[in-house]
Amino acid sequence: MAEYDYDLFTIGAGSGGVRASRVSASFGAKVAVAEERYLGGTCVNVGCIPKKLLVYASHYGEDFDDMPGFGWTIGERRLDWAKLIANKNKEIQRLNGVYRKMLGDAGVELFEGHAEVVDPHTVSVDGHRFTAKYILVAVGSWPMVPKFPGSQHAITSNEAFFLPSLPQTAIIVGGGYIGVEFAGIFHGLGAHTIQLYRGDLFLRGFDDDIRKTLADEMRKRGVDVRFKTDIIKIEKAGDILKAWLTDGGMIEASQVLYATGRRSKTPNLSLEKAGVKLKDSGAVVVDEFSKSTVDSIYAIGDCTDRMMLTPVAIAEGMALANTLFNNKPTKPRYLNVPTAVFSTPNCGTVGLTEQEARLRGFQVDIYRTSFRPLKHSLTGRDERTMMKLVVDQASDKVLGCHMVGPDAGEMIQGLAVALNCGATKAQFDQTIGIHPTAAEEFVTMRTKVA
Ligand code: NDP
Repeated sequence: MAEYDYDLFTIGAGSGGVRASRVSASFGAKVAVAEERYLGGTCVNVGCIPKKLLVYASHYGEDFDDMPGFGWTIGERRLDWAKLIANKNKEIQRLNGVYRKMLGDAGVELFEGHAEVVDPHTVSVDGHRFTAKYILVAVGSWPMVPKFPGSQHAITSNEAFFLPSLPQTAIIVGGGYIGVEFAGIFHGLGAHTIQLYRGDLFLRGFDDDIRKTLADEMRKRGVDVRFKTDIIKIEKAGDILKAWLTDGGMIEASQVLYATGRRSKTPNLSLEKAGVKLKDSGAVVVDEFSKSTVDSIYAIGDCTDRMMLTPVAIAEGMALANTLFNNKPTKPRYLNVPTAVFSTPNCGTVGLTEQEARLRGFQVDIYRTSFRPLKHSLTGRDERTMMKLVVDQASDKVLGCHMVGPDAGEMIQGLAVALNCGATKAQFDQTIGIHPTAAEEFVTMRTKVA
């Protein structure tokens, strides 16, 4: 008789948990996964996928504005928010089904219920106990709203995806990925949008040229972006929320969306009782192989707060399956992880920012271009695209590529391959551009910024 019920018991059927489970099963492991909410986790249900669908929706407004320059006229335009949300929900349901089928096809058993860790080899799902050689915690993260008077009136991205109507006026608090992305979505769909950020310039950690360019472009479009401003109190008066600001002002809005970071969803798992160490933030402490402080318990994805990105959780899941069941101990690789912010316009980035490169002691050459996309020669829209390369003077290696402009995410993906291959600026220069594209600018920048 087998010593344990399962070789691997995964808690959480999000991107990371599902990948680790499926791949482990493909290596011959007997695997079960428990999920208490929705298959596919944050990314599929209240993250990347529905967000991108809403971003697409929000771009139509601009496209309609830009049409006349190309000879088009259209009649009345009107957004049917309820239809947009219903269509989005239908697609998400389809994806939930895809995830269910993928698990079934891989031979992974699914338990739908709340799982807790009982001891290093036992999990209980709604009171039923199962033993496993390894337990994988892949429970993801949850939006965090700071406590202040009236904070209960604020919504998070979780609720924003299911609002009964588009807010007439939306206040967004926070200057990270979710804040700038929802500012673009709400504004593009027609809401009067005010984004508040407590610091000098949002998107902390991104290259300063990205941060400044995006702020300029959002303001040009009409988003009311306010820095060094926060909310101290929210009062509800009927359908209206009154947000009192640190600068003494007050704004009335139909919704206040807090995008102030996400916390590991580790409470209610009894992890500490089983000996798993958590950080103050609740994130599971793991080593380079995603092993927690208990030998048989591993953790991947957002709940470890290494890099809260879906593809990173997937890579961590792949690495873990290889480590545990394929005789190939694999550490996830965090070098040159490309990322895109689906703001309007998009930001894309890979490698070191100029500031990071200098802090790390590199002598750098900076190449930067800012131009009006060809499309806007006919629309008249005052939009600039910014691209930037950070190059190590000593080795000529390109250390970082940064962009603000349409499809930045699409372009940066390929450049991430180049950076991972150690491409030099000379090799960028040798590469023939594709004309006329914005992307060709990445291989035609010749003049260093003074
Ligand atoms: P982020 O950590 O990116 O940003 C949080 C923002 O809220 C920061 O501007 C932060 O300010 C501010 N903030 C934090 N606490 C407070 C507070 N108490 N009062 C006021 N402001 C506060 O979190 P997000 O919620 O935007 O996103 C969570 C994670 O999800 C991201 O880190 C990202 O990894 C992932 N994500 C990725 C996406 C993508 O790949 N496109 C899309 C969406 C999310 P400060 O800078 O001063 O700390």
